[in-house]
Amino acid sequence: MSIGTNAGYWLFGPVADDQEGIMADSYQMFIDGEWVSSSDGQTRDIISPHTGAVMATVQEGTAEDANRAVAAAKKAFAETWFDSTPKDRQLALLKLADRVEEHADELVKIEAENAGKPAELTMSEEIPPIVDNLRFFAGAARTMEGRSAGEYMAGFTSFIRREPIGVAGLIAPWNYPLMMAVWKIGPALATGNTIVLKPSELTPLTALKLAEYAADIFPPGVFNVITGDGVPAGDTLVRHPDVGIVSLTGDVNTGKVIHANASDTLKRVHLELGGKAPVVVFDDADMDTVVEWIGIAGYFNAGQDCTAATRVLAGPQIYDKLLENLVPTVEDIKVGGAFDPDIAVGSMISKEQLERVEGFVERAQEAGAEVLTGGKPMGDKGFYYTPTVVANPAQDSEIVQKEVFGPVVTVQRFSDEDEALAWANGVDYGLASSVWTRDVGRAMRMARRLQFGCVWVNTHIPLTPEMPHGGYKQSGHGKDMSVYSLEDYTNIKHVMVSLD
Ligand code: NAD
Repeated sequence: MSIGTNAGYWLFGPVADDQEGIMADSYQMFIDGEWVSSSDGQTRDIISPHTGAVMATVQEGTAEDANRAVAAAKKAFAETWFDSTPKDRQLALLKLADRVEEHADELVKIEAENAGKPAELTMSEEIPPIVDNLRFFAGAARTMEGRSAGEYMAGFTSFIRREPIGVAGLIAPWNYPLMMAVWKIGPALATGNTIVLKPSELTPLTALKLAEYAADIFPPGVFNVITGDGVPAGDTLVRHPDVGIVSLTGDVNTGKVIHANASDTLKRVHLELGGKAPVVVFDDADMDTVVEWIGIAGYFNAGQDCTAATRVLAGPQIYDKLLENLVPTVEDIKVGGAFDPDIAVGSMISKEQLERVEGFVERAQEAGAEVLTGGKPMGDKGFYYTPTVVANPAQDSEIVQKEVFGPVVTVQRFSDEDEALAWANGVDYGLASSVWTRDVGRAMRMARRLQFGCVWVNTHIPLTPEMPHGGYKQSGHGKDMSVYSLEDYTNIKHVMVSLD
């Protein structure tokens, strides 16, 4: 079997040049069961944010490459995957899950180096849910159903078929490169679609590794991975008439562009976009628990998380004490290189992202907010930013209204439940939120009125594959995880049979 990646080059020493499919220090793309270079021979350097150095080279996919991958996926859909049984798909996904588990060390090393993530946390907090997600969708492959069957019109029997859409174009971001890819791959393949995955141009390596593990599990053309920029590689999928659904996890602005560009072919669009999660802390909340969770959920993955506990709204009585407790907790968060076992927070993904975060905090200060801790870059290599607490920003200020995507938590003081709710809902985003109170009635009132796809009560951030994840408002539409995501990746067909 040929393999297309050689992460071993930089982690474990050079691999032999004579191995089939391998280029000494670069990764190829996986199209139609083969490892290929880009049509025009262009490549892209992949930078480790952890050191700022080049760690690998990948193919710079062209429109021609994307077209080729779609053609392969279309052919495979018609010739093999459409006829696969739910059991076939279950077994394939279970095998892929096993491979991920077996290769966890290798994946973690690549992911930590490529995304600047703490390796230990990637192993403990990302690999298990990634494996579990694949196993969930392996099972879910066997649950697809049409709800009705019966005689709704005299003389005719009607029933519902739930069918795959065809070719799914899956476009993933850089913050959880492997996990976000898997969230899409699982339901897309489980429901019988074939896929063309385009990971972020910044973090394509673990997706290519996944293709390597998948190569002998799926028939050629079912599982394709192309690398390259949003335009042309991703854009070609979005506009392609033979792609039936495009699923993006990414920025709100990218979602708007993709939504518009997909309209020519009227394909289905599934959008998991940004967030600005409110953390509504009422005066009766358990202080220690709140502070502990904000310390974790506000800064995990350097705050580059669409559900991050980034926007704390605290009650009038608890506000001062909360800050008094939160600031030292945040100052204790250890930031550092991906392979330091003691760190909780690693690097920002890129120099641009680091500068973007710096800009947000500087402008917040200029607008009158107070930086209680952090507020500056750190280290002499890589792209590190100090965990930051910003107190008392105005509700209409940029730092409250826009996704920062960095280790920055804002804290506002509200006066009563109505104001807390108005502020919590008063942003364009609607992905995740949390409420902290011991009052069950208040928790239930808030859970009902918060306009977010997820409301946590007295916790913030845990997710489970059985439950849907997706946004309201400009956080997008469609669901990742759970059986609800099967609906996004399937068509409903009514079959009506004459009884004559
Ligand atoms: P991004 O929007 O810059 O890029 C996401 C992907 O879209 C990349 O693969 C990119 O190449 C591609 N892309 C860009 N322009 C394109 C175009 N015109 N056509 C087709 N593809 C295009 O996002 P990012 O910076 O990689 O990721 C961070 C964003 O993702 C944040 O806003 C974050 O909130 C969001 N996110 C959301 C969720 C969720 O579940 N809702 C999860 C993780 C991340």
